[in-house]
Amino acid sequence: MKLLFNRVFDGADEMYALAEKALDKALAEYGDEAPLALPNTGYFLANHLAYLSKKITTLGELRESMVKIKTWMPGAQGAHANHLRDVFHSGYAAFLAAEVIEAIKYVNNAHPYKGEYHGHISDAEVRELGVPLVTGDIPGFTVIIGPAPSDDEAAEIIKGYQTRGIFVFLIGGIIDQARRKNLSMGFPVRIVPVGPDIWSVTHIISLVNRAAMIFGAVQPGDHDRLDEYTFYRIKAFVNAFAPVADIVVSAGAGAIAMGFPVITNDTQDMWKVPKSLIIQENTEDFIETSMEARDIKLKITAIDIPVAYSSAFEGEIIRRADMQVDIDGSRVDCFELVRTKDASEIEDHAIEIIGQDFDSVEPGSRFALGIIVEVAGKNMQSDFEPVFERRIHYFINCTEGIMHTGQRDLIRVRISKAAFEVGFRARHLGEVLYAKMKNEYESVIDKCQIKIYTKPDDLKKLRTEANIIYNKRDARLASLTDENVNVFYNCILCQSFSPAHVCVVTPERLGLCGAVSWLDAKATNELNPNGPCHLVKKDKLLDERLGAWEDVNEAVNKASHGNLNKVTLYSILTDPMTSCGCFECICGIEPASNGVVIVNREHTGMTPLGMTFSEMATMTGGGIQTPGFMGHGKYFIASKKFIMAEGGSQRIVWMPKALKDLVAERLNKTVSELNGIENFTGYIADETIAEDTESLMQFLNEKNHPALAMEPLL
Ligand code: SF4
Ligand code: ZN
Repeated sequence: MKLLFNRVFDGADEMYALAEKALDKALAEYGDEAPLALPNTGYFLANHLAYLSKKITTLGELRESMVKIKTWMPGAQGAHANHLRDVFHSGYAAFLAAEVIEAIKYVNNAHPYKGEYHGHISDAEVRELGVPLVTGDIPGFTVIIGPAPSDDEAAEIIKGYQTRGIFVFLIGGIIDQARRKNLSMGFPVRIVPVGPDIWSVTHIISLVNRAAMIFGAVQPGDHDRLDEYTFYRIKAFVNAFAPVADIVVSAGAGAIAMGFPVITNDTQDMWKVPKSLIIQENTEDFIETSMEARDIKLKITAIDIPVAYSSAFEGEIIRRADMQVDIDGSRVDCFELVRTKDASEIEDHAIEIIGQDFDSVEPGSRFALGIIVEVAGKNMQSDFEPVFERRIHYFINCTEGIMHTGQRDLIRVRISKAAFEVGFRARHLGEVLYAKMKNEYESVIDKCQIKIYTKPDDLKKLRTEANIIYNKRDARLASLTDENVNVFYNCILCQSFSPAHVCVVTPERLGLCGAVSWLDAKATNELNPNGPCHLVKKDKLLDERLGAWEDVNEAVNKASHGNLNKVTLYSILTDPMTSCGCFECICGIEPASNGVVIVNREHTGMTPLGMTFSEMATMTGGGIQTPGFMGHGKYFIASKKFIMAEGGSQRIVWMPKALKDLVAERLNKTVSELNGIENFTGYIADETIAEDTESLMQFLNEKNHPALAMEPLL
């Protein structure tokens, strides 16, 4: 019988030999100088960067790393019979060898994976995980290496994790099984078929290592902090179906070294190591055993609906051909509204449908819908209404077979044929909203009832009334300035993966994720004083222009556990606010024009700084101050406080067109009021005008952009 440790050593040798072969072949074909890069990442070969501190850019550089990898693999002969360190190092070596194999596929081929295989994971995808990870919407990750004993069991375990919100990566034959069972797969639904072979696992390890570098500010080569980060911050685990080959066992050793338990039904030459290597012969119990091993506890809300409910369905797309009803607020009268009522006016859990239901129309028809959520509670405040209302989008969107976009009277809801066929009706939207509102806001909502209107005449009238309320709220929001409130708030939600980061949220500067306004932070604080948002006083002003307060510095120091001592709210150069990684936009100094460039996450093209969003993001995250670069929310761009210390929004010289269009109205108003310049967006270049400094400067000179004549930035 072969010892488990020897299976690790042999497996790592096997992986190494495959890497060597692939490298020799590629070198013979393309030569040492051939460029080597994985697409859409600023982290090179991230595992090489994280473990070896190496920024690999050519094929030839892999020769040297192969030598280094070898030193981590003593093999069965060289190792002390049960030297744990050698075993773990062999696991890491297997990941590195796997990265060599996988990276070579991308030489001269940007898309080596065809069909549903995902292969390399982009930086943008890594960042996408930021927010759901902090909020606990993604409670963990699983890597399933298969095939499972049957197609049915494969589908069951995958869906089982999906409905629990666990992010699923698939490797090997289980991907074919999922395809045969018609499971919809992809990043948005959190089921990612990585690749057919075990070495594709390196892409998942790369994701984890980048998360540590992006969100945790872990420095390349810092093994201790890397292990600490993956152990404490990444709730991952592995399910490996028998029979498990030695090469898979070697990757398993790497996973265990990172703190990720492996659960398997392979009993051959396996040992049980509590919480690390767990034999569970009954594969139907994999989910429960795994969740227990990684200490993942779920907050389950029981909702009386005929379909599943999980944050994994948030990204689900319902195509035109698959929809039963199309609720389209841009064509018919629709709206959503949350209202505070007196407790006596509310019958808790009442759900009333005023008008026809989904059955009354032909499949694929347009449908009008208005939802009023009425709440009552001793601690309820009208300032909470918009906060709760904006959650309707998320609450409904997590329902399987239902897609929701937009808010207020510009919503779009699609009900799929599949959901309709199993009995989903208008009332169930009410069930979802009732359960989630009560569950998430139990400290203020004592009673809740839902009214769903579907008669066009009613909707016309109600929509007009709703708009009066929206306008009133907007006026209140617009009247709030940093000067006329008594306190700011901080938000430390992102510390669960970016431990040193703190956002300071003011009326004129929302959180960099774009999701937390001053009112949101206030509500979060009042709903739960021990939650992520805390009061920040603003009594001791240090510098008005920079937006520096002694109280803010103290609060930031305390909240960042001493990592950060000084933060200004209005400057990009002097002690700028830090970023976790989930910024909507990044602003960076553009030296030639004496201005700044802003790029939003959705924009994948080049900026005149010679960097893409991803590349700029590598300089901006991890809770570290990076003067000259700053992450921020989209709505901050039109704020009068936007880089006020450097002269404000009139410094903006370039933005992607879509972003420019989005903020145009508000931005033009701001610059007109502050600087007397009309139609300022006409001065700002975009990707259709310039993607390099030369054409940018030509455009700015033609327009005589105000930044050209402003005080030098640097
Ligand atoms: Fe994270 Fe800042 Fe948004 Fe809070 S406000 S969730 S800390 S990015
Ligand atoms: Zn964040």
